[in-house]
Order: sequence, then C-alpha cells, then structure tokens
Amino acid sequence: MGLSTTLPRPRARKRSSQGVTLGQVIALANQKGGVAKTTTTLNLAVAFREQGFDVLVVDLDPQGNLTMSQGMDPDSVEVSMFDVLVRGVPIDEVIRRVEVDVAISSIDLAGAELALSGMIGRERALQKALLPVRGRYDFILIDTPPSLGLLTINALTAADSVIVPVQCEYLSLRGLVQLENTLAMIRENLNPVVEIRGILPTMYDGRTLHSREAIEMLKENFGDVVFETRIKKTVRYAEAPVQGSSVLRYDPKGPAAEAYRQLAKEVLNGAQPREHA
Ligand code: ADP
Ligand code: MG
Repeated sequence: MGLSTTLPRPRARKRSSQGVTLGQVIALANQKGGVAKTTTTLNLAVAFREQGFDVLVVDLDPQGNLTMSQGMDPDSVEVSMFDVLVRGVPIDEVIRRVEVDVAISSIDLAGAELALSGMIGRERALQKALLPVRGRYDFILIDTPPSLGLLTINALTAADSVIVPVQCEYLSLRGLVQLENTLAMIRENLNPVVEIRGILPTMYDGRTLHSREAIEMLKENFGDVVFETRIKKTVRYAEAPVQGSSVLRYDPKGPAAEAYRQLAKEVLNGAQPREHA
C-alpha cells in the first residue's frame, strides 16, 4: 500500500492570500530529529531580520543546538528557558542579542518536562512567558526538540501556526500522521487556532528519484500546504553553525542563503515591516 493511501487528509488550512498578521508566533516542529528544524528556525529568522522585521527565536530544545549555532555554549549559561518555564523568570533575562534575539536553552531544559508535569497550567508555561514580549516582535519562532513531549506541546499551545520541516524521504513523511494527531488534540484542548502554515521539504536532492517521489507524495497528500520552496542538500548548512553563524551571514550570496530568503518571502506573502517610530 502506498503512502498516499495510508496518510489521512490533514486538517491544515490553506495559507491566506492576504499576507500575514504581524506579531505572530510560529513553532517549527517535527518529532523526528535531523530534519532541519533548528537550521530552518535560525535561517528563516535571520531572513526575516534582513527584511527589517524584529524577530525573537526561542530555543526550546535541551540539546541547545540553536543556541550553539549562534556561538553560545548552553553548558555554561546561568539562566535559560528552563528558568523561564519552571521558575517564572521573565523571558527578557534569557534573551541574547546575536544575529537575531535568541532566548537561550541549556542542558537544564532536559529536566523541564518533569518539573512542569506536576504544575497547574503546565502546557501554557511558554504562552504565558511570551505575553510580555509578543508586542515587541513581528515574529517569534520556536525551535522544538525531536519529540512530542511537554516542551513541544508548550510550543504548539503558544503558537499561531506551525512550520513542519520534512526530509524528502518516505520514512520521514510517515511521521507527519503522528504530528497531525497531536495537533488535532492541541486544537481540541488547548489552542483552537493553531494551524499548519506549511510543510517544508528539506535536504532535497533533485538528482535522486527518491527525493522527487517524496515531493510528489507530499503534494498528493497535503496539497498547497506544501511550500513551493525546497531546501536543497548542501554542506553549507552544516558549516555555518561551526562559525557561530547563520548561512545568510556565512555565505550571503550562495544558493543556501537564497533558499531561506525565498522561504521567508513565501511565509510573508507580501507583508511589509511595521513603521518604526
Ligand atoms: P533538527 O533540528 O531537526 O534535528 P538540524 O537543523 O539540526 O535538524 O539538522 C540536522 C543536521 O543536518 C545538521 O548537521 C545540519 O547542519 C544538517 N542540515 C540541515 N539542513 C540541511 C540541508 N538542507 N542539507 C544538508 N544538511 C543539512
Ligand atoms: Mg534541532
């Protein structure tokens, strides 16, 4: 049986043709690791920044890859998103100004799910923490860990929409069903408005039939929820973090940077930055 018959039709809504509302929270989620969540969160954020938008990135992964990819060491930070979620520390205290503003992670975050699990409002800790800063940013992007645990649930509860990076291969596509089920539960119980803003094919290799077929299956099952932008496979994305940099700063004129500018354009859909006083 082909994937097209095993995947249920998603309840994702079409993208609006009237541009985007600003001040919006977008979670980058997929419970599979290594699909380019972190790479996409950072580079999309920097692409928005290049266009003049104010952007906050929240690193909600205890591995702290995004924090590291901006040249910071998650093992040596004093306060992090753990303290924000569990101890009610204001998020401003963990925001570092790098290429964009980043609310940093630390290894402590690994204990956050357990610490939160006994608390009232455990799914809404992030939503609450973001309230005081929402008005200050055009976009807040949340990088999530490779699981559908309480940290990811916090991200989906705080979010207006979700971008789902998927690796262009059959096994990665199957995981989308589980993510859709989780989103359906979130909509029913915690956040009725959250929608899939788009599915982003990553690590695309147009020379292989398998990559091309994976895109076909995605389109067949998810239609225009699949972004037109495809992120091609290239070592540039692995090289940039070693320099503590986004690919837009590391290789500003290269195709890898251009791909994320293209994605930003697709997400923005014609929206312009606010006038700053
Ligand atoms: P996730 O956050 O989903 O676990 P990452 O963004 O950390 O995924 O990406 C996993 C690995 O793949 C990283 O080493 C990253 O540099 C690399 N990578 C990301 N995007 C691409 C791409 N388009 N082509 C090749 N390698 C990529
Ligand atoms: Mg990651």
